[in-house]
Amino acid sequence: MNIIENISTIKNKIHNAEIKSNRPENSVKLMAVSKFHTVEEIKKAIDAGQILFGENRVQEACQKFEELYKYNPNIELHIIGNLQLNKVKKAVKIASCIQSVDRLELIEEIEKQCEKINKNINIFFEIHTAEDSKSGYTSEEDLFESLDLISKGKFPHIKTKGLMTMAPFTNDENLIRKSFVTLKNIQQNAKLKFPNLDLEELSMGMSGDFEIAIEEGSTLVRVGTAIFGERNYNK
Ligand SMILES: *Cc1c(COP(=O)(O)O)cnc(C)c1O
Repeated sequence: MNIIENISTIKNKIHNAEIKSNRPENSVKLMAVSKFHTVEEIKKAIDAGQILFGENRVQEACQKFEELYKYNPNIELHIIGNLQLNKVKKAVKIASCIQSVDRLELIEEIEKQCEKINKNINIFFEIHTAEDSKSGYTSEEDLFESLDLISKGKFPHIKTKGLMTMAPFTNDENLIRKSFVTLKNIQQNAKLKFPNLDLEELSMGMSGDFEIAIEEGSTLVRVGTAIFGERNYNK
């Protein structure tokens, strides 16, 4: 795998997708999803100028990123995987953003742990838009309950950034697109209802579907396999 070449190829594809969909240049950020890949591989991506990384599992993220922050203090890490309450303390220490916020009790725990270490953190709300994903808010009502409490200032260490979703794993482009359109619609509704919250970002699109996601308004694509190659889950 030539990680440096892969990043350059993906950046070109992002650029072309921006042009194709009349989006401003550089309006889409690239996250390198480095789960299951080694510190050495991630360093190659950093050497290629990559700053933003995503990890699913807190334990793994801590093991790798304590060293990687020393390698380059400017890198940024987002947690993008399902988060258990007992992992929140470590998650808020190692990451600048939790993208997989999917329930109120998680927000309460994030606030509690951030208050303890006096740190502000960014969050995305993960939305369940496709059947084969397990995680995410499943109703707009639950999402709006969380947004309402945040907009009233109940969680001063938490700063909202936007919404996140995973499209279904399918070759059916219409189904994938539908999932992205759903996220965009929920974003529009949420922005109207909570104009004082920052909900501008749409984190959607992975290796197989990021160009479609950009056409549908993605501002941040999360790409793993197309940068680092297949993951070895048996390691
Ligand atoms: C693993 C993962 C990705 C990256 O998937 P690829 O298909 O390897 O690009 C993106 N988002 C989330 C939430 C993931 O868990």
